[in-house]
Amino acid sequence: MLDPNAGNQKNPPQVAGPLPPGSTIGILGSGQLGRMLALAGARLGLKSHIYADASGPAFDVAATHTVGGFDDMAALARFGGSVDVVTYEFENVPVAAAEALQKIVAVRPGPRALEVSQDRLIEKQFISALGVPVAPFMPIASAADIGPAMLELGGPAILKTRRLGYDGKGQVSVASADRAAGAFDAIGRAPAVLEKRVAFTREVSVLVVRAVDGTLAYYDCPENEHRDGILHRSTVPSPLGAADVAQAQAIAGRIATALAYVGVLAVELFHFADRKTDRLAVNEIAPRVHNSGHWTMDACAISQFENHMRAVAGWPLGSTARHSDAEMINLIGAEANAWHGLAAEPGAALHLYGKREARDGRKMGHVNRLQPRR
Ligand code: AMP
Repeated sequence: MLDPNAGNQKNPPQVAGPLPPGSTIGILGSGQLGRMLALAGARLGLKSHIYADASGPAFDVAATHTVGGFDDMAALARFGGSVDVVTYEFENVPVAAAEALQKIVAVRPGPRALEVSQDRLIEKQFISALGVPVAPFMPIASAADIGPAMLELGGPAILKTRRLGYDGKGQVSVASADRAAGAFDAIGRAPAVLEKRVAFTREVSVLVVRAVDGTLAYYDCPENEHRDGILHRSTVPSPLGAADVAQAQAIAGRIATALAYVGVLAVELFHFADRKTDRLAVNEIAPRVHNSGHWTMDACAISQFENHMRAVAGWPLGSTARHSDAEMINLIGAEANAWHGLAAEPGAALHLYGKREARDGRKMGHVNRLQPRR
């Protein structure tokens, strides 16, 4: 399927057409998202080869796995040469690794999506440049920048590291300018953005999938509730009206298209129910399948995982229609010990990730509770 001269060309290799069943999808990352991608691919006869720097739950369900560093260019090249396309399940894949792989094999989504989503400042600038609202923000290079930025933003704010923040880590509230030095220390004196604390009504997300030919499909918007910075519950339908759902989806589509994206992209948004205009602002994007889309595994005929695998394999996208109302609850740490009762619960679909140790804050599984669509 691949152009044999691809590695010698300046442009990344192109996959000539849809990858047939039996093809191998290379997945960077061995976490639960990789696991669920591999399982979804298997349903279509697609094999998975997981590449990661440590073993993880995806290894148990993939045809092949490799343990290698993301800076081990020789190991990455061997991996790239053994698969038909490469995708990733976490956004902190080093851009250099994706770029090196792209010389050998198509990488979907491409390195640009990593570049944008790995750095909160670049991400916010990129999204704003598309005319999409974000919470007001200012770049922060040192503690001395924080006072003037707070004046400019006009009120309490949140200081977030530019890189490597997730699930609420790498961020701290700044109530007033006299707390600036302590806040900068608390995030490890790393380059940051200061974001105005916005009074949203709720948090929602869009899971958009974009095919190789640019076709876009959207899942319904879940409402997302967090606990201790970690997603606790996603609910569909959300209380958003049809116009706001359409607007959220249009925003996600604009971002996916601007990134020439292939696969599932998650866009997390704040919803301001009482505003007349600009009722949605983007919080952040994740260039991958997303926890707030896990309900699609049971409430849709084709899940976010299958649609991601379809997109990266160059297949037609599957239906994103939702046939049931659903609530997804994450099972964090010891919560997964309730597996027996959850397995017996009518209307509940239990998903466990096969992680051996239930450490605090660790995502061990989730349960989708379904109701007939109202
Ligand atoms: P993040 O890691 O940026 O997704 O932030 C984690 C959580 O903090 C979000 O899901 C929100 O609940 C909250 N949060 C982040 N940014 C803001 C903001 N600018 N204003 C109010 N709450 C925020």
